[in-house]
Amino acid sequence: MKELKLFCTHCKKEFEIEEFLVRCDICNEPLEVEEIKYGNIHEGNSLKQNIFERYQEFMPFENGNELISMGEGFTPLIKSHYLAEKYSIKNIFFKNEMQNPTWSFKDRGTSACLIHAKELGYKKIGTVSTGNMAASVAAYGRKNKLETFVIINKNMPEEKIEPIAIYEPHLIKYDGDYGNLYYKSLEIGKDNHIYFMNSDVPMRVEGSKTIAFEICEQLDFIMPDYVVVPTSAGGNIRGIEKGFREFKNAGLIKSIPKMIVAQAEGCSPIVKAFENKSERIERFMNPRTIAHAIENPLPPSGNQVLRMLRKNSGYAVSVSEEEIIEAQSLMAKEGIFGQPASAVSLAVVIKIRKGEIITSEDSVVCIVTGSGLKYTEVLKQHKIKTEKADQMNIDRVITELKI
Ligand SMILES: [Zn+2]
Repeated sequence: MKELKLFCTHCKKEFEIEEFLVRCDICNEPLEVEEIKYGNIHEGNSLKQNIFERYQEFMPFENGNELISMGEGFTPLIKSHYLAEKYSIKNIFFKNEMQNPTWSFKDRGTSACLIHAKELGYKKIGTVSTGNMAASVAAYGRKNKLETFVIINKNMPEEKIEPIAIYEPHLIKYDGDYGNLYYKSLEIGKDNHIYFMNSDVPMRVEGSKTIAFEICEQLDFIMPDYVVVPTSAGGNIRGIEKGFREFKNAGLIKSIPKMIVAQAEGCSPIVKAFENKSERIERFMNPRTIAHAIENPLPPSGNQVLRMLRKNSGYAVSVSEEEIIEAQSLMAKEGIFGQPASAVSLAVVIKIRKGEIITSEDSVVCIVTGSGLKYTEVLKQHKIKTEKADQMNIDRVITELKI
């Protein structure tokens, strides 16, 4: 590891990066790697590099050799034509994270954690997750020959378990308060030398920085006005904002985009605290939304996300289930089929375009966090249209459709 410190995001107490530490022992707030002040991009052939080689100077580890990479990152930034015109916004871009090896942004953080875990000599890794992160950790654990523990909720339906089980991790169905399992797993990890790479651990935040780095390169270092991130635990938006900050430190960009937390009304603890101008998150009671991937009633990085938004002059906005479904359908008009949680960012853009936050002069990046194929059940809520034809009438049916 490089000569960097971990520090508490709240009380600023320092910790060693050579240990697996997640929370501050004084205030229980998340730890973060200190900010990188200088650096440059390692230009090269991105078909041969991995993200940690290209952005090596901004990473806390010396190199990515510890990782058996599966081609994470380097995802496309797709410019919208239809939606930008429809909603009269200068530019809407979709950062399509579903083109990662396990179809979500989680692969970036998982691989960063894996490099750290291997450098620290861990042979066992684990996570607590109900979807994207479980699949990611199970796949990378398998590929990198590490014993992998995935703890899931006992009520998780079989069709969601199978795509994780295919990688053959130890799958543990947990019967108890799933919300507290984040903290419990850290204790289990300590006792059993398992590196629990949960949602907002410091290296996951480091992995998410690469989303910001790529956006900078893809936009020729001319920054968008807003970056909208579907937000659950809070690790991803923290990483993206930190990435922009570090590129600004290094003189690669002049400004940092405003960050927008996007949540579903059915589970919006960060939005609630933001609107109440509160400094602390409160548990969101009876969460219920189709955006399962961001259904976290007590986000472990919630307080830090509130602090980050205040510094960044950002916003937190929630949208209804109907708005999410509509945005999912609209995104498909651009050729992108994201899971409901992914559509929350576009739904938020459409909602606030009606107000004064986003104007017709603004450029916006929506983070599309994961694939629609992860949750096909939701398709029942869309108006899916098909036509019937047989050998006798197929010519006529197609001709009539053309009209
Ligand atoms: Zn602290």
